Amino acid sequence: MAKKAFITGITGQDGSYLSKLLLEKGYEVIGAYRRSASINSWRLDELGVTKDIRMVPFEMLEASNMHRTLRAVKPDEVYNLAAQSFVALSFEQPIYTCEVDGMGPAKLLEAVREECPEAHFYQASTSEMFGKVQETPQNEKTPFYPRSPYGVGKLFAHWTTVNYRESFGMHTSSGLLFNHESPLRGLEFVTRKITSTLAQIKLKHAEVLELGNMDASRDWGFAGDYVEGMWRMLQQSSGADYILSTGITHTVREFVTVASRELGFDLQWEGSAEKEVGIDRNTNKTILRVNPAFYRPAEVDLLVGNSGKANAELGWKPSTDFEELVRMMARADHDRATRGPIRN
Ligand code: NDP
Ligand code: GDP
Repeated sequence: MAKKAFITGITGQDGSYLSKLLLEKGYEVIGAYRRSASINSWRLDELGVTKDIRMVPFEMLEASNMHRTLRAVKPDEVYNLAAQSFVALSFEQPIYTCEVDGMGPAKLLEAVREECPEAHFYQASTSEMFGKVQETPQNEKTPFYPRSPYGVGKLFAHWTTVNYRESFGMHTSSGLLFNHESPLRGLEFVTRKITSTLAQIKLKHAEVLELGNMDASRDWGFAGDYVEGMWRMLQQSSGADYILSTGITHTVREFVTVASRELGFDLQWEGSAEKEVGIDRNTNKTILRVNPAFYRPAEVDLLVGNSGKANAELGWKPSTDFEELVRMMARADHDRATRGPIRN
């Protein structure tokens, strides 16, 4: 009989790539989606997997719904990917974010404990928990110092995942994943904001790209590689915590440089801090400027991960490097912009 995987956050970037991967491996995929007037299924549609997933309504704030759903489904594996995942928004909606990202996983773990305690459980933890980093690169033993309500809420969920493993002998794993991107990334995140806006500027559908902290540095990988690591964690004999990262960090400015080159701009940087601009030498137009409205109340300046444990124990390593990732995203957005305004 096919193994059953229950994936929360099925409509998100990682939920879409993970469901494709598990379907290819012969799993029955049960997709837990947030009910609203219409399902946000564009990513699943782009990957061509929508019709192969059994969709069930699911809400991270609603424990009774979790119990009923898990009792009916009895999954072998539970991947908890659902979250309010945008750090900047968490400063505006800290209570909601912590309810969904912190208390939500605690409710879900309780439901797993009651309804399907043998199921293997994956929690989507994050490098944002390292925040104001205490050492570089960060590994599984690096002390945490979250810098946003998102990071704080996720840290609660991380320790709850560890605690359920240690207290109840459950097979729970926490994946401490560094930023991972793709053409299916949400438009608010800096990578997709850069590629989608530059593509639209190229086609004269937009004028200028406005960004915040150009010096922020991230360890960016490709989401398609990272979902493979999630699956590998749940195939181990017991649960554990693993970092998934590339081990290489780049600034926002470097991301813009590679994306603009791929789209045929010839970018020249001028000025610094709030006065920094990017001018396209081909047209002499300013296509990028800094807008302090995009600065955050507290910033995570630098993230770079050491995924040696995942490599040694899971045989996992990323296959897509930074240049390939940026170029893939830029090309995808250029294709989309050619077809019309980019909405997703
Ligand atoms: P997305 O923002 O693309 O997807 C989030 C998913 O969660 C969506 O399907 C969304 O549904 C769903 N969701 C949000 N709120 C609720 C709720 N209250 N109840 C039920 N479902 C809800 O995130 P990613 O795919 O990029 O990330 C997956 C997970 O990994 C997240 O938990 C994220 O925090 C974490 N993570 C991501 C990293 C990254 O770089 N991508 C890095 C480290 C961790 P809807 O479509 O209806 O909005
Ligand atoms: P995060 O690492 O989960 O917060 O992912 P983001 O893609 O949202 O942000 C990555 C980094 O880019 C952060 O340090 C932001 O401060 C920085 N950044 C600079 N300008 C922007 C912007 O306009 N939007 C976003 N989302 N981030 C920006």
